[in-house]
Amino acid sequence: MSRRDDLFALAQRTKGFMPPDEGRALYDQGRLVGESTAAGTWLEVGAWCGKSALYLGAAAEESGAVLYSLDHHHGSEENQRGWEHFDEELVDPADGRLNTLPTWQRTIARADLEATVVGVVGRSSVVAAHFDQPLELLFIDGGHGAEVAWADYAAWAPKVVVGGVMMIHDVFADPRDGGRPPYEIYRAALDDGRFVERAAVGSLRVLERRTA
Ligand code: SAH
Ligand code: MG
Repeated sequence: MSRRDDLFALAQRTKGFMPPDEGRALYDQGRLVGESTAAGTWLEVGAWCGKSALYLGAAAEESGAVLYSLDHHHGSEENQRGWEHFDEELVDPADGRLNTLPTWQRTIARADLEATVVGVVGRSSVVAAHFDQPLELLFIDGGHGAEVAWADYAAWAPKVVVGGVMMIHDVFADPRDGGRPPYEIYRAALDDGRFVERAAVGSLRVLERRTA
């Protein structure tokens, strides 16, 4: 098996909410970005247990890019006890809080991606306010509540360079398929005029920044 196939296989065994075809699309888009800009700076909002970081990390490694994988690691609303996506195994017995950081670290270590994927632990809005580096690739898959999703879009989308790519996960045109905020920020990016759609796979939307 190739390095890439190993990483894809590991990704499929990793906890998370990224179907293989969408993960493959993350990788493919990463490679396209990597072909046009070597040694780029990439960032994902929403790391969870490292599944999407493996797909993007595989592309980043081949491209000489670095992927920042950002999360406060305490889960979104729907991950908390009593909600749809709660997972008892991810609760820290020390304080009873959800904590995906140890699992994320094990994922990245097992994948031997520690030189490529860099964890950033904190709230998205706090990190964004102190992060000046332009991004060749941005993947938004953090909180899906209106306030957090809009804050992510407002804070991170302007950092994407012209020619760079912004991907958004869990975009559902039909409200019956899922929550609105990811769809709304995707629409806002298109309506804004600076982004054009490059691809769509499942609930993943790939936008390219066309103008400053
Ligand atoms: N991309 C991951 C899934 C991310 S799930 C994968 O493919 O496996 C969404 C994540 O966003 C959760 O881990 C949650 O902790 C994180 N999150 C939600 N709101 C956040 C915020 N305001 N700042 C940082 N992380 C946040
Ligand atoms: Mg998602």
